Amino acid sequence: MAESQTSTETDWVSRFADDVIAESERRAPGKPVVVASGLSPSGPIHLGNLREVMTPHLVADEIRRRGHTVRHLISWDDYDRFRKVPEGIPGVDKATWTEHIGKPLTSVPAPAGSAYPNWAEHFKAAMTAALDELGVEYDGISQTEQYTAGTYREQILHAMKHRADIDAVLDRYRTKKDPAAAQGKGGKKPQQQKKVDEAELEAAEGSGAADEDDGSGNTAGYFPYKPYCGNCEKDLTVVTSYDDDTTELNYTCSACGFAETVRLSEFNRGKLVWKVDWPMRWAYEGVIFEPSGVDHSSPGSSFVVGGQIVREVFDGVQPIGPMYAFVGISGMAKMSSSKGGVPTPADALKIMEAPLLRWLYARRKPNQSFKIAFDQEIQRLYDEWDSLGRKVADGTVLPADAAAHSRAVRTAAGELPSTPRPLPYRTLASVADITAGAEDQTLRILSELDPENPLTALDEARPRLDRAENWITTQVPAEARTIVRDEPDKELLGSLDDQGRESLRLLLEGLDAHWSLDGLTTLVYGVPKVLAGLKPDAKPTPELKAAQRSFFALLYRLLVSRDTGPRLPTLLLAVGADRVRRLLGA
Ligand SMILES: [Zn+2]
Repeated sequence: MAESQTSTETDWVSRFADDVIAESERRAPGKPVVVASGLSPSGPIHLGNLREVMTPHLVADEIRRRGHTVRHLISWDDYDRFRKVPEGIPGVDKATWTEHIGKPLTSVPAPAGSAYPNWAEHFKAAMTAALDELGVEYDGISQTEQYTAGTYREQILHAMKHRADIDAVLDRYRTKKDPAAAQGKGGKKPQQQKKVDEAELEAAEGSGAADEDDGSGNTAGYFPYKPYCGNCEKDLTVVTSYDDDTTELNYTCSACGFAETVRLSEFNRGKLVWKVDWPMRWAYEGVIFEPSGVDHSSPGSSFVVGGQIVREVFDGVQPIGPMYAFVGISGMAKMSSSKGGVPTPADALKIMEAPLLRWLYARRKPNQSFKIAFDQEIQRLYDEWDSLGRKVADGTVLPADAAAHSRAVRTAAGELPSTPRPLPYRTLASVADITAGAEDQTLRILSELDPENPLTALDEARPRLDRAENWITTQVPAEARTIVRDEPDKELLGSLDDQGRESLRLLLEGLDAHWSLDGLTTLVYGVPKVLAGLKPDAKPTPELKAAQRSFFALLYRLLVSRDTGPRLPTLLLAVGADRVRRLLGA
């Protein structure tokens, strides 16, 4: 099934696709539908900012599935100023890189040892690789290339000519002191949520220069354009005069004192301020859909101001622009924070397959916040995902769930890579935990899970197996890892009463006949029943449940020296029959 047959009312993606197609046909009949995202490679791109891309991607993909041509623009805001040195980036020392603050991101050196020519390219590369793996089809546009090639020349001259109009629009909001007014578009945490950590703040900054000045406060007048200094390359410049007829512009640099006269009709080293730049690009590209993370209701947000500027200055129309809610991260281990503690899409793709990550975005409306699990929750999430897959396969799935599943596993271009034998993630994680990645041992255990239909090669369980292994090794703390005993716990074995010894004897006796995941499940639950004189299919009573719990605790103590661990059938398979016999004292 290469095409989704989703009706127009199936889910949020379909509803936006309806609106976007209708709006595109109204504004630009016969032209490709244009949707857009903006990303700022000012440092590692936070996983939370992936929503900036996934929201238009899913809508664009639905439009493609319906046979329309779509351009999904990703504007790399790499001509933004370098605002601050992020913490904890390998190959970056704060003092050296602080000297580059104020330069375009593409003029800042890449971290030491990087394969990329500059700061922006270095951080763009990781995101590009993740987007490829996620099946996101897009046209990347470097704003450095656009500005320095003079692509926006007409728009810049037009904005300068109409600077009084722009100033008037901005002035409508200047008296309303709203802290959100200075925000860029890359996602702002809802204010009712109080706990904010550093990483989330990073995410909230996102694209567009938050707190960037909008060109006001200049005693020589209002100018929506800022040159980068011809001497020091920083944007700490002040336009001192501009002549509309000759396009002659004078500026001085407050960082180095440099002053220069240039002609904007031929000058390519500067950019429009963010609140003008964004609506200019809506008009230039004919953007029909571009979501943003900022709270629309805030009176001075870039999206609201941009809506007026695009209409009043650039004779364009504001895109359909839903606000998307914050995406959080649960439980990312400190040990994996090799990139300044900022979880990136690449980090998520190390522990989960691309379809699962796509599904998290597809199943929630943009205005619903959710968390991406790096902790134990990922196992439950995978169970839910597998259960959805079974419902899709047997036809019992609800339409909205089917739509989300379809958007997760395939795009208009085809199926995403999948795992041929998708064994339960929690089982794979347990096996990886116990074997520490030893391939022959892993294959033995996985092939014994279902002896009727054994796994014959690890590749059948990949890439899910690799993701589960990565999760165990990078996210599960050492104290939570499972270490199988080498030698039997003689002291504990010696202290057992008759009942305890008999339970172990029954288990070992049934081991060979029950050596599969299902068989061992029956066996471990069955031993306490037999001891209690009950039939193996007896209904559990509270007394029986208590007996099972203490039997399981005994097995965990004898096998892994703790009271809990991976599910017992998986653990027994992983330990292997010979070692189980040895540790249980036979
Ligand atoms: Zn300078």
